Amino acid sequence: MKAGRKPAGQKDLARSGQATIQEQTVPSAVSQSMTPDSARARREDSDSPDADPIPPGRKPARTPQEDDRREPGGARRPFLWNLLGSRPAKAILRQPAFPLALQVAALAGIVAVTINGWGIGLTESTDDLMTLRKTNLTTLFVWGFWWPAMIAVALLAGRLWCSVCPMELVNRLADALARRIGWPRTKMTGWLKAGWLIMALYVVLQLLVAGFSIHRMPHYTSNLLIVLFGLALGAGLVFREPRSFCKGLCPAGALLSVYGRYTPLQLDIRDPGVCESCRSKDCVAQKNRYRFDKRSCPSLLQPFNRQQSDGCVLCFQCAKVCPYGNLGFGLVRREASSRRHRLLRPFEAAFVLIATGFVAHEVAAEVKGLDETFHAVPSALQGLAPLIDFAWWEAFWFLLLLPLALWILVAGASRLLARRTPWKTLLLAAATGAAPVVAVAHFAKAAAKVSAWLGFLPLVVTDPAGLETLQRLSTHTLQAPSPLVGLPLIGWIMLFWILLLSRQGWFWSRQAVPDSLTAARTGLVTVTVFFGTLLLSWPWS
Ligand code: SF4
Ligand code: SF4
Repeated sequence: MKAGRKPAGQKDLARSGQATIQEQTVPSAVSQSMTPDSARARREDSDSPDADPIPPGRKPARTPQEDDRREPGGARRPFLWNLLGSRPAKAILRQPAFPLALQVAALAGIVAVTINGWGIGLTESTDDLMTLRKTNLTTLFVWGFWWPAMIAVALLAGRLWCSVCPMELVNRLADALARRIGWPRTKMTGWLKAGWLIMALYVVLQLLVAGFSIHRMPHYTSNLLIVLFGLALGAGLVFREPRSFCKGLCPAGALLSVYGRYTPLQLDIRDPGVCESCRSKDCVAQKNRYRFDKRSCPSLLQPFNRQQSDGCVLCFQCAKVCPYGNLGFGLVRREASSRRHRLLRPFEAAFVLIATGFVAHEVAAEVKGLDETFHAVPSALQGLAPLIDFAWWEAFWFLLLLPLALWILVAGASRLLARRTPWKTLLLAAATGAAPVVAVAHFAKAAAKVSAWLGFLPLVVTDPAGLETLQRLSTHTLQAPSPLVGLPLIGWIMLFWILLLSRQGWFWSRQAVPDSLTAARTGLVTVTVFFGTLLLSWPWS
């Protein structure tokens, strides 16, 4: 249903002059079906951040009980548990400063981290940089905590990370400024909206990591943060679309979109009947679009029609503006539309295909023998062309050659089993099937990194630049902190999780790609065996 339109039934009634009758009869129908106690219980059950009363004249046409009777099993309410129903959550949601205050705090933190890393690491040797990345606050925070936490949060709670992202705030400020001064702007082109620049920027980031070690050099990491802020600012000034940076430029966009699909924690409507009867549609209304707080969806989504991976960044503005408090966030049933498994979009599938290579590279790096075996190909290639630095051969191997070899194998096997299916369909289906396992393998590396780096946190508090700590570690006057959890234990846990998710993925594939089930399951089984074998080396490391 389009934003601002009435449901078809209401429109017809309005046309035939029965709208008035409906408006008069609906409240009485509601009151007849509800005792005072049940009406009070219903009011107390409301999750509206503004709480009761429901605005006069806006009362939904049907009670949830009536819905259940009218559509047995068809329109079950999605939530098993709604976090926004708790009193503390309601109190937080009522604050105009939520989530803005968190974004401002995150912005201040990122600015401090950027300044801290500026000019550091430019003269250190390659060996020293391996230690400095953990002793400097900037590299420790960005690569040791921020990035891994983003993966973990995506898997557990979708794009909740985006709620506090300072880049969205910068993009929004630029957007508001451009609108206020009448700055001429353009529309985002189709390929930008399709996420291809997001993918390209992610690959560029991987190349910068592999070729220039920006993840080890605090100064380069600061530069990266400045570039990201510049992109967020520039996107707001250049493009008319709200959240243009999140939609078309954020290098983490593909990762968040794919990994955030599988969690049962979703934003969804509490009662489909209330949205069907809602006339104001405040959550999508144009009049609410540019308010400071309680805005209609700034991502231009329909919150009452959530889909998996639809780009919702969990800003909770729709939950704030809904006059019935009909939006919640929490554990939703598997049949809810927000959890319905769908085919990956092409840029998401491209991300999964490439991710198999760089995640394998990261997983293998944890075990010395495995790492040497993994690098046999780039070593051989460098032997053939020694003028090109090994780092570039390494990137060529894990970003292109390895994914290419793996996915040609998967697509080829799928093609043998399902002959007439086009190659593009096979690859999309195979990536869709494989995505949850790739996500957990990526999380395995993130968990290992956090475990290994967490001990450095007290050290960066006293020495944020990390140079003194580096000196003490180099001269052995300070012992390097031990990992919090051993790699073998992390390996076992992740292996178990991968097997569990692989089993789930077997069934999810049927819902996501019923027409190319063979390809989806071939992709799923291949990456399960691939990452399972790599992770099996962790317990024996
Ligand atoms: S979420 Fe709220 S504002 Fe949006 S359609 Fe449903 S009841 Fe109306
Ligand atoms: S659907 Fe709601 S939470 Fe998601 S982006 Fe739109 S307003 Fe924010």
